[in-house]
Amino acid sequence: MLKTDKTERLELYKDRNTQALISKFLSGEISELEPVYDPKQGYHYPPVESIVGDASDAEAFLKKLYDGGVLERRLYDKIVYCPKCDSVNVSVHYCCPYCRSFAIQRSALIEHVKCGYMDVEENFRKGNKLVCPKCREELRKLDVDYRKAGVWCACKDCGKSFDIPVATHFCRVCHANFTFEDAVIRDIYAYSLRKEAKEEVATGWVIIAPIRDFLEENGFEVESPAFMKGKSGANHMFDIAAYGEGAKRKVTVIDVATTVEAVVSEQPVIALFAKIFDVTPDSAYLIAIPAISENGRKMAELYNIQVVEAKSQKEVVRALKERMKG
Ligand SMILES: [Zn+2]
Ligand SMILES: [Zn+2]
Ligand SMILES: [Zn+2]
Repeated sequence: MLKTDKTERLELYKDRNTQALISKFLSGEISELEPVYDPKQGYHYPPVESIVGDASDAEAFLKKLYDGGVLERRLYDKIVYCPKCDSVNVSVHYCCPYCRSFAIQRSALIEHVKCGYMDVEENFRKGNKLVCPKCREELRKLDVDYRKAGVWCACKDCGKSFDIPVATHFCRVCHANFTFEDAVIRDIYAYSLRKEAKEEVATGWVIIAPIRDFLEENGFEVESPAFMKGKSGANHMFDIAAYGEGAKRKVTVIDVATTVEAVVSEQPVIALFAKIFDVTPDSAYLIAIPAISENGRKMAELYNIQVVEAKSQKEVVRALKERMKG
């Protein structure tokens, strides 16, 4: 499952627009891509528009990168559209649950802590002061003398009182009234670069690119990423495949494994072995940055995988050069 995911992302990385957007994330120009609201256009994403050239293409582009596992998203807002005319110029009406009128009066409920009397704020008002209508004492300090105990609403049309109003929508364009059931609601997202994508891109651009160049300069034909069919009929992906010159066209496959920990585990050795067992290239390399674990080294030896250790991306080509000579 994870493999398909990565394969799809690697395809997307080849696209110039994708590369341009990812660069903005990696350079720190964008940490999270938030939509910008414009009263005429609605929500849009200006940095993406400058890449893809058109506002209507921007959303499809972002959706593709989200579906492909390059970007992750978080719910940023919801837009309510009028079901009759599609306008976003929609307001909220808080209505009386009994007669549906939106002519309601909201009041704060106040409780006099000392005597326990509770009523709406208006009934405590005496000029600039708050005075308890029951015990006639003045309320001075909030949360000491008195506390707010929620809201209380009164309907100006039917005269009933209630605590929770019913929300409805009013379209300012076609004047339609509609409820939650009929509202057309669209989710709006903010996007950021997925951790996996960040790592893959760093590996691909910073580490794989110089290796490619080195191999090409030395007469190899290079594919990266390379998709190769095995004896089983399954397709396998390698970070790099290099084909030698001459009639035999010897095939070398290379995977790159990086870790932020001290050493790369045996896991990428096992993964590479499973693939070369099926594909049977002439030689296989695992580039481990910064180093390989003891267990990984033993397994690689057993599986006939050449391990190249390099502390940094700068060292990779030099280390590979030495290894491939021998
Ligand atoms: Zn009182
Ligand atoms: Zn009412
Ligand atoms: Zn409308």
